[in-house]
Amino acid sequence: MKAVQLFAHGQPGDLRLVEVAEPRPARDEVVVRVRACGLNRLDLWAEQGSLPIPIQLPRTPGGEIAGEIDAVGDEVKEWRVGDRVAVQSNLFCGECEFCRAGHESLCLRSELLGVQREGGFAEKVAVPARALVRLPEAVSFIDSAALTLAGSTAMHMLTRRARVTPGQTVLVIAGASGVGSAAIQIARSLGARVIATTSSEAKRHLCRTLGAEEVVDATDPEWPAEVRRWTNKRGVDWVVEHVGGVVLESVFSCVARGGTVVTCGATAGRDVRLNLWPFFVKEQRLVGSYGRTRADMVETLVWAVDGRLRAVVEEVLPLDRAVEGFARLRNRTVLGKLVIQS
Ligand SMILES: [Zn+2]
Repeated sequence: MKAVQLFAHGQPGDLRLVEVAEPRPARDEVVVRVRACGLNRLDLWAEQGSLPIPIQLPRTPGGEIAGEIDAVGDEVKEWRVGDRVAVQSNLFCGECEFCRAGHESLCLRSELLGVQREGGFAEKVAVPARALVRLPEAVSFIDSAALTLAGSTAMHMLTRRARVTPGQTVLVIAGASGVGSAAIQIARSLGARVIATTSSEAKRHLCRTLGAEEVVDATDPEWPAEVRRWTNKRGVDWVVEHVGGVVLESVFSCVARGGTVVTCGATAGRDVRLNLWPFFVKEQRLVGSYGRTRADMVETLVWAVDGRLRAVVEEVLPLDRAVEGFARLRNRTVLGKLVIQS
């Protein structure tokens, strides 16, 4: 079968479409015939070799998988060949104290699909059966592959790590990204008023279409002052942050007293400076968020069915153009998501 594999890290890395052996399912696994797989910043980190996780090369990236079951392992009883599925990308053991409590994002033996094991930029992929979520008929493979990683990340941030109530204000950083475009929609559905940051006119338009009341220019270093102005100097109640570095440092100046920054990424840098005086005087909070639980995946798909959450897909690329997709995501020109179809 065909797969796009990473042979050497870099920017760009050595990514090539190659012929590889078809996967076989272990006893507790299924093989999924991949119909669509979303491209994410996680794939770029794997390409660069910048994750704090060792990666064995060659490796097939791709964690946001939707498809149909092609084969089932001996111990798998609850799934049949042909079932439509989405795959949870943060693989979990199902047995540790956190998994037993439903907090799979905190699993002690977690693995990332497309990083620590072969991912979905291929015609087929073997995954543990416990990582499967049934894909409703009303959700296409492409929409699933644009929502179940990025969208469920935003779902986890806004419904588990934050408690957004109607009338509150939410600042969404990089509102036209995969996480950002879902976060705007989710925050609006929860009754919040949303302000987003972004960097171009097309992205600004997208943020407004998704429900952002105000959009500020992330390339203007004075953007936090714009956010303060929009809230009459009060600051926002919540921030959905996934960039890190200087962006995370900047957001605290436009967070309200008692407000919270929820963060799930560090593209712009992992080490940040935080002035503790205003932080504790204003009783602000910084909350980490990692991946998603199975419940977040299910909820994301339910919201997709009832129209509260729509996938924002810039383009669907065939497998043999996946490498081009990596370059476009790296150049930060993508509106929403790129999806690879195999
Ligand atoms: Zn576990």
